[in-house]
Amino acid sequence: MVITKEDVLKVIDKIVEVIRENKEYLTELDSAIGDADHGINMDRGFEAVKQKLATIPENSDIGTILKTVGMTLVSTVGGASGPLYGTAFMRAGQAVQGKTELTEEDVVKIFEAALQGIKDRGKAQAGDKTMIDSIEPAYKALKESLENNIALPEALKRAVNAAKEGMEYTKNISARKGRASYLGERSIGHIDPGATSSYLMIKALADVINL
Ligand code: ADP
Ligand code: MG
Ligand code: MG
Repeated sequence: MVITKEDVLKVIDKIVEVIRENKEYLTELDSAIGDADHGINMDRGFEAVKQKLATIPENSDIGTILKTVGMTLVSTVGGASGPLYGTAFMRAGQAVQGKTELTEEDVVKIFEAALQGIKDRGKAQAGDKTMIDSIEPAYKALKESLENNIALPEALKRAVNAAKEGMEYTKNISARKGRASYLGERSIGHIDPGATSSYLMIKALADVINL
């Protein structure tokens, strides 16, 4: 199965839509353990992405598109999540530079590069109650599924389930990175906003590819 450039653009559109729909919810999650702006930050960033992508050359490759998403997020999203997601998309773009179609392996590379970018930038690990707690299990589930010759749509469904479990798990642990870490143990009992936005983005990807 190949993913076309049109598919990639559809996924980004879907992310814009899902972030918009969940703007209040993400902000509400951030109000419990942060500064009540995650939904606002993410929505501002992805609305800017939508505007920006409308202006890039028709023949841009997938790497360029993803790098443009990343640069736009860095320059428009305030807060920790801007540079982190920005780095993730920029690294993802580098991983598929020049490509106009993606294979299953490329999708794994995209996840790997994005995850590594977030870790390099934010120095967090799984279990620190961050976006990594959704993305890392999703990446592992995707990679393992594809290694076992499971077709991409089903592999992505498994990745979404893993991301959801990881997101839900953040409720039970205390934050060691980001603003929520100031609360220490008091952050227990609340789902991490960034783990939630990551889950929503991974779900948007799977939903578009499953069509
Ligand atoms: P801010 O905390 O600056 O207001 P946001 O509210 O937009 O930024 O984003 C908060 C989210 O960023 C957290 O829920 C968490 O998932 C993520 N985050 C914060 N610091 C890190 C880090 N060092 N590594 C990975 N993710 C992080
Ligand atoms: Mg915040
Ligand atoms: Mg903030």
